[in-house]
Amino acid sequence: MGRDGLKEACIITIGDELLQGYTVDTNSAWLGKKLNNYNIRVQRKITIADELDIIQYELSKALDMYDLIFVTGGLGPTLDDVTQSAIKNILDAVSEFDENYYTELKQKFAAKKMEMPPNNRSQAMVINGTKVIPNSLGTARGIHIEKEGRHLFSLPGVPTEMKGMFNKYIVKNYLPSVKKESIALIRTTGIIESNLAEILKAKIDEYSDRYSFSFLPKFTGVDFKIRQDAPCELGLDSVSKYFFEWLSPYAYGWGNETLESVLATQLAQKGLTLSVAESCTGGLIGKRLTDVEGSSSFFLGGIIAYSNDIKINQLSISSDLLMKDGAVSHSVAKVMAESIQTISKSDISVATTGISGPAGGSDKKPVGLVYIAVSYNGNVWVKEFNFFPKRLIHREITSQTALNMVRKVINE
Ligand code: ATP
Ligand code: MG
Repeated sequence: MGRDGLKEACIITIGDELLQGYTVDTNSAWLGKKLNNYNIRVQRKITIADELDIIQYELSKALDMYDLIFVTGGLGPTLDDVTQSAIKNILDAVSEFDENYYTELKQKFAAKKMEMPPNNRSQAMVINGTKVIPNSLGTARGIHIEKEGRHLFSLPGVPTEMKGMFNKYIVKNYLPSVKKESIALIRTTGIIESNLAEILKAKIDEYSDRYSFSFLPKFTGVDFKIRQDAPCELGLDSVSKYFFEWLSPYAYGWGNETLESVLATQLAQKGLTLSVAESCTGGLIGKRLTDVEGSSSFFLGGIIAYSNDIKINQLSISSDLLMKDGAVSHSVAKVMAESIQTISKSDISVATTGISGPAGGSDKKPVGLVYIAVSYNGNVWVKEFNFFPKRLIHREITSQTALNMVRKVINE
């Protein structure tokens, strides 16, 4: 148990194929996320080989240290599956043959018109002093050890089976019921993690005895997580709203909300329509907006003006301007936004033109350079950025920034 009364957990994934990189260990990521939602602090996670002595060593060490231990893999019927033997050895226990389950297993195979291989007999063994965790999706049942108030759950490696057993057996019987509202996630964009930490430092210090805070950075923004660890006269609701306001104008939403879903709600509420003229984003802004249900109420459409010809013929950009300033320029971005607004008669428009790479950069205009323009109410805002010069990421960040500029302009 941690100092703050939270249960502490360890996740152990077993399998040579995980160590050799043939299978990516998604089990521990899934378990980590789940346990976090139940306010259980995962302190350690390890991946180990299919070797009896290593498994015995790590499992018995974990049983001395953690409240909850989650083990996945190695419960199958094949020779490389030795988790069951390891558990038997560390408990110094004997196994008993479960005649009923053996019959059930044989029936499962018969139902599939298959003969049960002799190997599967091992799956009907039950170690004395342990409980069986039922598995409705496969043949390998789980093993539950309870020792001096600590629990070890050994589950199969197959993700669907592991998840089913976790949800059915462990959650109900052994995890604390947690109020969902003990965690709040504030989504921010337009600010890097270190700057965010800087502007929050004093506020975090003020609350750190009852709340814990973490930063989850992505290319498109940083999520800021607030978790209530102890009772406080100011509840999570008030504290997270206080942080949200402090983080304005970077904070745009909560939890699972996306920038496009938040923007969609705001445009619809204000009765504003939007159009796009996209060069380097190649339609990604339109795609993101139309991912939102009901987008037809505010999104009119746009033009993917990737070539100069389309910029000239569809968006009325003069070839002189393209020659003089280049397609990736402040002036072209501005005219792109103005033209699409005129063509579509939208209230707002947004345009992008940039160099996502890998080719097309120069000393004066390097890969990563991008101009984004937003036109609204007779004004056009144009901004220049140099984003991460990797094509897909560049596009992702550009679309995020463009949507965020629209969000800011309509909320000013
Ligand atoms: P089985 O009865 O299938 O043998 P098992 O408990 O012995 O179950 P493993 O043999 O370790 O499990 O793995 C079975 C399958 O599950 C494999 O295909 C493996 O790639 C996958 N798997 C195992 N561990 C993980 C993990 N940590 N993350 C994702 N997949 C995993
Ligand atoms: Mg196996």
